[in-house]
Amino acid sequence: MSETTIDQNAATEPQAKKKSASSRIWHYVPPNVPLKHAAYYQLPFSMWNSIKYLLRAWSPLTERFFILLVAIAIWTWFVPSLDRTVTFQFDWMFEVWLRNFILVLVIAGGLHLWFYTFRKQDDELRYDTSSLKSRAKIFHFKNQVYDNMFWTLGSAVLVGSLWECLLLWAYANGYATMINFSENPFWFIGLMILIPIWSGFHFYWFHRALHIPFWYKWVHSWHHKNINTGPWSGHAMHPVEHIGLYSDAVLYFFVASHPVHMLFNLLLHTIAGPTSHCGYDKLKISDAFKVQLGDFMHQLHHKFFDCNYGTYEDPWDKVFGTFHDGTAAGDKLINERRRMLIKKNLKKSRA
Ligand SMILES: [Zn+2]
Ligand SMILES: [Zn+2]
Repeated sequence: MSETTIDQNAATEPQAKKKSASSRIWHYVPPNVPLKHAAYYQLPFSMWNSIKYLLRAWSPLTERFFILLVAIAIWTWFVPSLDRTVTFQFDWMFEVWLRNFILVLVIAGGLHLWFYTFRKQDDELRYDTSSLKSRAKIFHFKNQVYDNMFWTLGSAVLVGSLWECLLLWAYANGYATMINFSENPFWFIGLMILIPIWSGFHFYWFHRALHIPFWYKWVHSWHHKNINTGPWSGHAMHPVEHIGLYSDAVLYFFVASHPVHMLFNLLLHTIAGPTSHCGYDKLKISDAFKVQLGDFMHQLHHKFFDCNYGTYEDPWDKVFGTFHDGTAAGDKLINERRRMLIKKNLKKSRA
């Protein structure tokens, strides 16, 4: 999963479409294909490219920056004071849950209305035009959107809120060490920059474990029912997966932080879940103004299953040969790898 940048590559889009034979599979192939990991994972390492990458990733027109603003707004106006969070009490925990419920309803619900109910941009910039499934037995309520909404609002919001409550309790009781910007400005900013990288590392290994057959069968297959995805699919998961997804928040028991760091970290899941699964590369306000939302790397994972377990912020898909860069060559590589695995398993079963 990843976040947003305002589209500065609109002029290169037609070329990008021609560039990849994957456009036979996809209705729309984004201009950043062939996909690349963050600059700090490119060899030879370039400090200048890494700095440029970070400046772009944190520019005020990115989803990442928007998530930071939401984290600051929540800390300023919508978090119970730490004197109240010293003990677990229903009233303040309910407030946290209600605020997160409304936030997810507005973001996932708003995107669903924009793209799928009112079809504000038809299929423009949509990766895959196959419809979200209704009358499909595989989904709870036999309907993909109802199923996705149920697990998002019923489980993801609750689990994410419980993680937040646990950390607010820990800050209030000194189990999580609290710093502030004025006393530790360098660590405050440094940690903020590290959070998407930490979250990416955590996501890869947790997600990779979910693809072990036992866990895939009982837990992760719920998320993979969504071969094509919509905004509500981002958190359409087994509750066990929600617990693991948000568990990168344990970091704040071990490193000194401000609650804004913790909120930003949790919101990377809460907000980027719906945006990265929205099914469209960009939300088009006008020809000149488009907001990057979709995550083609993760969309490829939903389509092909055994590639792109991580994000642009971790190097492991590249290291372990499971990276699909969105091109026809990427299709070939993944198919070849799959054939080799089948061969290997056949040999094993005959031995
Ligand atoms: Zn997904
Ligand atoms: Zn998966």
